Amino acid sequence: MPDDRLLAFANHPWGRPIVEALGLPQPRPLPRRADAYGDRELEGRRVQIVAIGEAPLREALRHAVASQGGELIDSGGVQTLIVDATACVDIAALRALFQQVQSVLPRLSLGAHVLLLAEDAGDLAVPLRAACAQALHGFTRSLSKELGRRGATANLLVLPSRTLATPVAPSSLVGALRYFGNDRSAYISGQVLAWRPHEHATDPAEPQRPLGATAAPSATTPAAGSNPRPMKTALVTGAAGGIGAATARRLAREGLRVLCVDMPATKDALIALTSEIGGELLAIDLVSAEAPHKIAAAAARFGGLEVLVHNAGITRDRTLTRMSAAEWDSVMAVNLSAIATIDDRLDIDGLIVDGAREICLSSISGIAGNAGQTNYSASKAALIGYVRARADELATRGITVNAVAPGFIETAMTRRIPLMLREAGRRLNALKQGGRPEDVAEAIAFLAAPESGPINAQVLRVCGQSLLGA
Ligand code: NAD
Repeated sequence: MPDDRLLAFANHPWGRPIVEALGLPQPRPLPRRADAYGDRELEGRRVQIVAIGEAPLREALRHAVASQGGELIDSGGVQTLIVDATACVDIAALRALFQQVQSVLPRLSLGAHVLLLAEDAGDLAVPLRAACAQALHGFTRSLSKELGRRGATANLLVLPSRTLATPVAPSSLVGALRYFGNDRSAYISGQVLAWRPHEHATDPAEPQRPLGATAAPSATTPAAGSNPRPMKTALVTGAAGGIGAATARRLAREGLRVLCVDMPATKDALIALTSEIGGELLAIDLVSAEAPHKIAAAAARFGGLEVLVHNAGITRDRTLTRMSAAEWDSVMAVNLSAIATIDDRLDIDGLIVDGAREICLSSISGIAGNAGQTNYSASKAALIGYVRARADELATRGITVNAVAPGFIETAMTRRIPLMLREAGRRLNALKQGGRPEDVAEAIAFLAAPESGPINAQVLRVCGQSLLGA
């Protein structure tokens, strides 16, 4: 548990009035879920769907919510609000959006989740239509900042025009609802992501597969994002502590066998972790010449990798004027070169299976930049370029490659930050608190899920809508 005294004090009956009187940030405890995915993820949740104009997704959304056990309501407290704004492409529709969402807000529960869906403005040729679709980005990001004080979130998925031109199968939306519509995404807010459902989406009635479940094999070559194979094996680097250990635990909960890699000095922690979750450990410096071969050999024993999480990372902070070449080189070596070298080896040896999910740990420093972190920010921005190009390269094999960009997460890395800076970093977001390693692990488990094929070449920020790089 993070040592966040303000969070505890602000939610204590005596503390709350004092925190209010002093004008301090008032974080709310976030409702979280980190259990394995089930077939009925929205069971017991009160879900309202708001439809703007023609709302072409309305029926698909209703089916998708019902298939996950959500209770569809139009009165009383709302835990999940889904807004089909895919027809919101004129000024009158924007006004309807404003009024319809406004009318639900008084009924929104603490810690609720709002998910908006819009058409991709980049697909629209008529300037005013594109403008109105783009307006949804600003609307969502402002709404999420307003909801933060209630521990609630808002996120936006944009869908391609060609997807909306034909009926959308409910099953192609379920993956998004299972994550953004419930407490698994508690620390994700203000995010805009492209959701590109596979053109040959599966039958609406088909139940969703958990990460570790087997699926019927497909006879055809997989299309971008589709995953005909079960997720059985994973690689997690930097698994000895922090986000890496939380991720290894989370993937193991889905039934995956995890290869846990970290520095030789962390061997005891790796032994403890693998005796808890099973899998295998490899205590090796990722920068060493033998690391790619040893990882490939372990991956071969696993029969190939279905999930790759490049999590290991280091900081060597110094302003650019004072930074040594060694500080620059070591950060580039761990945070960037090691990933490319390991991927090269696995590619050459054919150890990344079709339909796999690859996830690189970037950072909001790679988006916003940070004084004293030119080396780190460059390496983390580089990973964003890396996943985009690699996603293109691997798309025909049904493999997705995405980045997760954490904000301030309560780990050993952030405990090393001086007190005042640490406190500022922790509060500078819409939810006024730091995230937990489990929040990042949950985002990784979401991207690793078979039904997350519609997300590819994206950056998912796990930052409570950090004001940095917003
Ligand atoms: P951490 O320092 O707690 O853990 C990183 C792990 O990587 C450690 O166990 C370390 O031993 C391992 N590692 C480092 N160099 C290695 C090498 N050469 N070979 C093998 N293992 C090596 O860090 P964390 O906070 O859990 O961060 C995990 C990832 O998330 C990193 O890539 C980090 O840059 C990124 N990130 C973290 C935060 C945050 O707030 N904690 C924010 C943004 C991004």
